[in-house]
Amino acid sequence: MKGIAVFPRKPDSVHLAELPKPSIDDIPGGRGVLVRVLRCGVDGTDKEINAGDYGAAPPGYDFLVLGHENFGRVEAVGKNVSEVAPGDYVVATVRRPGMSLYDVIGTNDMTTDDVYFERGINLRHGYLTEYYADDAEFIVKVPQGLKNVGVLLEPLTVAEKGIAQAYEIQRRLRVWRPRRAAVLGSGTIGLMATLALRLRGLQVTTFGRKTSLADEAAVSGPYDIVFEATGSSVVVFESMRIVGKNGVLVLSSVTGGDKQVTIPADKINLEFVLGNKVMVGTVNANREYFEMGVKDMAQAESEYPGWLSRLLTHPVKGLENYRQLLDTLTGAKGAIKVFCEISPL
Ligand code: BGC
Ligand code: ZN
Repeated sequence: MKGIAVFPRKPDSVHLAELPKPSIDDIPGGRGVLVRVLRCGVDGTDKEINAGDYGAAPPGYDFLVLGHENFGRVEAVGKNVSEVAPGDYVVATVRRPGMSLYDVIGTNDMTTDDVYFERGINLRHGYLTEYYADDAEFIVKVPQGLKNVGVLLEPLTVAEKGIAQAYEIQRRLRVWRPRRAAVLGSGTIGLMATLALRLRGLQVTTFGRKTSLADEAAVSGPYDIVFEATGSSVVVFESMRIVGKNGVLVLSSVTGGDKQVTIPADKINLEFVLGNKVMVGTVNANREYFEMGVKDMAQAESEYPGWLSRLLTHPVKGLENYRQLLDTLTGAKGAIKVFCEISPL
């Protein structure tokens, strides 16, 4: 079968690779699920992997199949799988367990290992291909009614995790009743965080990357919760100034560069100390957040019908159009979600 792949660390090496079709027997214990991939989204991570910034091939391969924002349909299941059945729509998680205690208890998104395994990103093939097989443990069922927007689940889970962690941390306050939130960045993750916070009843202000935070925050801030998703570490430091007393700042931007900035260090520190503020980093999501994401998607479809599907701005048909997929990802104006339509829904 075909897969869109790169030679990791080699700039612009995207190509069509040939690889064997997986089977449920590849997975031990009768727990295999074979899935036909229907759609797969692409994002900044895929862009940076194709730019050669990071990413690694699985052992035994010189290429890495890209794609982690997957959506598919079950074709076959092993004899010990009862959670999903052929015909079900599903999304698979991205990270696979390593060795740390966190990995062992099913929270591999919190791994303390130096090496991590992520499908389509690091040491495991991704989902920009025709089929994948995996353990039922990593596969989450999506109801029929969400099939048109299911490809947005993985990016939603990244926001879900950040927000869930913020609420968990804020239990320190015993009576935390957040009312106002700011989301920095209006890309897919920013919009997903906006949605998830709105669904929790908050008044949310979402800033595009171009807005001057200091000016805007003076008008509507400070905020009980700030979710940073611009991809810019400069904005990260600015965002520390708009968190209110007892507030929480969630950082989700993966900044692979080497940028240096001058910051008002005394002021930021003083405000954090005197205001009992918290800042937390967040990456990836385990199945718990995928399940949360499915519920939020269902609620979103009934509260804001059609909103999610409007984010699916740039479909590209067929794995063979991998060039167009990457060019759209890097160049298209006004794109929110660029995704490959691998097989019809
Ligand atoms: C993915 C996450 C992943 C992170 C770091 C993001 O693009 O959505 O699942 O953990 O990149 O590799
Ligand atoms: Zn991603």
